Amino acid sequence: MNIQGQNYIGYSLSSQSDKTFQSYLPAQDTNLPEKFHCATPDEVNKAMQLAEKAFNELAKLPTTKRADFLIAITEEIMAIGDVLLERANLETGLPMVRLQGERARTINQLTQFAGLIREGSWVDASIDTAAPDRTPVPKPDLRKMFIPIGPVVVFGSSNFPFAYSVAGVDSGPAWAAGNPVIVKAHAAHPGVSDLTAQAIVKAAQRTGMPEGIFSMLYDDGFEVGAALVKHPASKAVGFTGSYKGGMALYRMAQEREEPIPVYAEMGSVNPIVVLPEYLKTNAVSLAKTLAGSVTLGAGQFCTNPGLVFVTKTEGLETFEEQYKSEITNIAPATMLTAGICKAFYKLSSEALEQDNVTKFAVSGLSSEQQNQSQATIAKVSGKDFIANPKLHEEVFGPFSLLVVCSDLDELQDALMHLKGQLTASLMASEKEAAANPDILHLLSKICGRFVMNGVPTGVEVCPSMFHGGPFPAASISHFTSVGRHSILRFVRPQSFQDWPDSLLPDELKNSNPLGIFRLVNNETTARAI
Ligand code: NAP
Repeated sequence: MNIQGQNYIGYSLSSQSDKTFQSYLPAQDTNLPEKFHCATPDEVNKAMQLAEKAFNELAKLPTTKRADFLIAITEEIMAIGDVLLERANLETGLPMVRLQGERARTINQLTQFAGLIREGSWVDASIDTAAPDRTPVPKPDLRKMFIPIGPVVVFGSSNFPFAYSVAGVDSGPAWAAGNPVIVKAHAAHPGVSDLTAQAIVKAAQRTGMPEGIFSMLYDDGFEVGAALVKHPASKAVGFTGSYKGGMALYRMAQEREEPIPVYAEMGSVNPIVVLPEYLKTNAVSLAKTLAGSVTLGAGQFCTNPGLVFVTKTEGLETFEEQYKSEITNIAPATMLTAGICKAFYKLSSEALEQDNVTKFAVSGLSSEQQNQSQATIAKVSGKDFIANPKLHEEVFGPFSLLVVCSDLDELQDALMHLKGQLTASLMASEKEAAANPDILHLLSKICGRFVMNGVPTGVEVCPSMFHGGPFPAASISHFTSVGRHSILRFVRPQSFQDWPDSLLPDELKNSNPLGIFRLVNNETTARAI
């Protein structure tokens, strides 16, 4: 499979502009020769117009066809073979084992959505049959279900070239719901995006999808992304990346004549709170687990534990000694891009320059490779943490701040200063946790996923996962970007009042031809009416 380097507009390739960029290899600090053509405003418009048409065509197709499309994407991605992994390894610097796992996760996500829409009950159908004799006014027949929202713009993330990129956590559920997807490929892995786009186009053609169900555009600046968000045909946006980028797109979307939702996941510091008894009995194992989590994938995870709260208590010294030794022995790792690496050193240095912040531990740096990060742990007292909002911010990469509080009261005070987070972790025995309800409540208030005695890295893909959180972890706190419920970002509910049975969608017909579970007159059942 050859890299095309052109924009994918429906089933055609297009390269109107001479403005190009190349793949950057972070480990080698060089570029690959292929050129990727940035999209023009005309190409943006063409992709959006095709998507609008495809949306109307998709509505006429049975759901099973969309499920076939999702499965075909998984087959075509796997058919690319190791070339895809090798390209991802070059473009991101992420190790092959990690990339293998991430590809498997992506396949799993798409397969789960195919299963979800084949089964069909996800539309959350509810039916309230008419009561014409009700007094003083007759009750109409009302039936409700989720319907697709329209063309969805997806921004691939830099840190997950498969699972949060072209065929990732936004595209999968958007297609599953019945929407076309227009991807703005992330400039950090254009070759991986290109190969994935080819797989999707093949899958769409072989399963008879309308042209425009997928387009993908390149840009190494902001114009194309902004034009996609502003285009009148766009109905929703999925994004994972920086607070600055997410909020810029969010504002753009709200300033449109027709505002649209931007589901932006914008990072988090994922506080870990260690209660005294737990620290005393688990000092060594905790230090090892934490060091592994902080440095996993060069710390380039939205769930990286950036803040660890402890109290001055028995076990602290042992914990600190072990934590220091673990971090010191961590091997250097390549970061995703030169820009991300530069930002890591800038922000971690700024954190270390703050009043009363000390350098607690730094990993060695002996590799010949470029863009390597040194894992860095800083230390500060609870009092100084509370006083300095700069220390509450994320440093993307292998950085974490150890906050040593004088006692549990100071720890509680510190927790009150935290903003919305994707996750929060509590390290405590059942008894100790039960004895500290205020701490539990403070953490619960700010997080989307509450972890007990575990680190936040590692996001299971299953229905009970919630990956999102109160602002600013996510722009809209009600929705997850992982798991089946992530489909709810790309649908809207619609009621049908007094419609003849033959004209209703199958999901709402009396005979229940799809055999799905529905709420019929307040009873959940798969029975016909
Ligand atoms: P980013 O700068 O937020 O960019 C993400 C995507 O959004 C890219 O496609 C980018 O376009 C686009 N974009 C950003 N700002 C935009 C704007 N104002 N208008 C239109 N499009 C815009 O993220 P990144 O490049 O992946 O990494 C930079 C930083 O983001 C990291 O250092 C880290 O702090 C954070 N990050 C967070 C997460 C997370 O999990 N929350 C993941 C990755 C990165 P271009 O590609 O053309 O620049």
